[in-house]
Amino acid sequence: MDTKTKKRRKAFVDTNDCVACGCCVKVCPKHAMEIWKGVMAKVDMERCVGCGKCAKECPASVIEVKEVLL
Ligand code: SF4
Ligand code: SF4
Repeated sequence: MDTKTKKRRKAFVDTNDCVACGCCVKVCPKHAMEIWKGVMAKVDMERCVGCGKCAKECPASVIEVKEVLL
């Protein structure tokens, strides 16, 4: 068993419905969110710690925090 494989919580954006408002960028304590090409939010998986702050702030409710195996 690879001991480096762990379950981690990460934010995922439903980019179809993201309105690129930038609210998630402002609240993320890890600076893991950016507005990509001015059209949608993009998560930096290396930086995201899955705290869920962005998901709470998103006015369009398009961010979901999920457990992933990394
Ligand atoms: S879950 Fe937390 S760390 Fe990850 S992008 Fe959202 S606010 Fe940033
Ligand atoms: S807060 Fe929601 S709608 Fe606004 S940029 Fe972030 S993901 Fe998109």
